[in-house]
Amino acid sequence: MTENKYAFYLRKSRADLELEKKNPIDVLKNHELILNDLAKSLNITNIDIYREVVSGETISSRPVMQNLLKQIEQKQYKGILVVEIERLARGNTMDQGIISRAFKYTNTKIITPTKTYDPNDEFDEEYFEFGLFMSRREYKTINRRIQRGRLINSKKGLYVGSIAPYGYNRKKLKGEKGFKLIINPKEAEVIKTIFNLYLNENMGTTNIANYLNNLKIKPRKNNKWTASSIRNILQSPSIKGYITWNKRKSEKKLQDGNIITTRPINKNHILVKGIHQPIIDEETWNKVSNKIKSQKTPKTKAQTKVQNPLAGLIICSKCHKKMIRRPHKEYPDSLICPTKECKTVSSNLNVVEEYIIKSLQEYLKNYKYYLKIKPKPKEDNAINLITKEIENTKKQIEKSYELVEEEIYTPEIFTKRIKILNDKLKYLTQEKNNLEKQNKNLKYNKIRTYTPKLERVLKDYHNIPTNEEKNLFLSSVIEKVIYIKNNGGKNHKDDFTLKIFPKL
Ligand SMILES: [Zn+2]
Repeated sequence: MTENKYAFYLRKSRADLELEKKNPIDVLKNHELILNDLAKSLNITNIDIYREVVSGETISSRPVMQNLLKQIEQKQYKGILVVEIERLARGNTMDQGIISRAFKYTNTKIITPTKTYDPNDEFDEEYFEFGLFMSRREYKTINRRIQRGRLINSKKGLYVGSIAPYGYNRKKLKGEKGFKLIINPKEAEVIKTIFNLYLNENMGTTNIANYLNNLKIKPRKNNKWTASSIRNILQSPSIKGYITWNKRKSEKKLQDGNIITTRPINKNHILVKGIHQPIIDEETWNKVSNKIKSQKTPKTKAQTKVQNPLAGLIICSKCHKKMIRRPHKEYPDSLICPTKECKTVSSNLNVVEEYIIKSLQEYLKNYKYYLKIKPKPKEDNAINLITKEIENTKKQIEKSYELVEEEIYTPEIFTKRIKILNDKLKYLTQEKNNLEKQNKNLKYNKIRTYTPKLERVLKDYHNIPTNEEKNLFLSSVIEKVIYIKNNGGKNHKDDFTLKIFPKL
């Protein structure tokens, strides 16, 4: 590498051309001044200047860029200075890849007034997260374009997923974009067997799974078939020759202050006839589908009805299994450990339940007292204020660019201004992270959000009509309860100890 040599790359954007039409200014000259200033502040002196006079978007239409790339590939420069990273590559992802690789493999830095990109700094998240030159917005546009392409292809009956459904392989189409499904003969045989067993032999999904497992026929990913994997096959539209797309759409939801992603069934998903061969004819598929529907509803209803208000919450101290309800005809239900040889003694379920409620009431009293005497820590408000300040600073940075483009700022003022704003942004972001960390760990905040929840549960607990709802309420405030009871007999009837873990 030539000792400490750097280069400027200057190129007008479309917006610049518009600007020049309206105003008598020379944008490239302006950019050069900005970069000069930036170079001065970094003590860079040995500089080549590359001026792109045409304003092409692709590398092939930018001769100066081609030349610069050649020099970079020959390791001529330590770094390239540009006013914004987008000046190097925009639009075409292939071009972005070419440029990105050239910088990466020659360890050439990209230096802008706001940030220095070091291709070999693995902590330079932006570099990895978005692919070197893609600003967030551009990334989104590209992603949208891909999604739209998939949508169009699926409407044409092509297969757009990355993994073929069971029974098929993916095959690249000749001479055009996209994939189609072709039958995997071995898997197709298994599917036919499953359908036959279910429809003609009256076997349930669990029995079919066992049958296949006994024959040592394996599913694709796992070692064994399960009732639910059999059900998935029986209900897969692909095997009757259809294509689905967007059946499960990712949705972001806010839950307890955290963003969680769910993938619920999308009712408006696409279902079209594919260009692939069906394994099962539509009539048979529909028969199976109706049979599944007719059997499913009553069964699940009975299963989901929770009759134990403590279901899933009580843990046996000896074997760590979840304790269960045992109904009796003559006397009240009891709470027992499901492990046969476990020595933990059972109790009357209602007594345990009442004991838990009483303990929770004690907790509530204590928490209320704690909140009363403990001085309030730093307001959450601080985070909101800092977030706003961060947004403002980002806007100011954007504005500075506009002002220098319009020659309201001189390049010197601009560079100073940008440095101040960037330092500020860095500081604010750090501060915000710290506050968020503190907030999360703060006992005070945990108790403050927990207390009203607990109060609500306890207030109405005895008026809750069903055990299912009682269980739901308790599960919302209790993490788990460890149950200890070693002695049986009449003298030790209520001789149990509970360790309650509140869901703080
Ligand atoms: Zn046990």
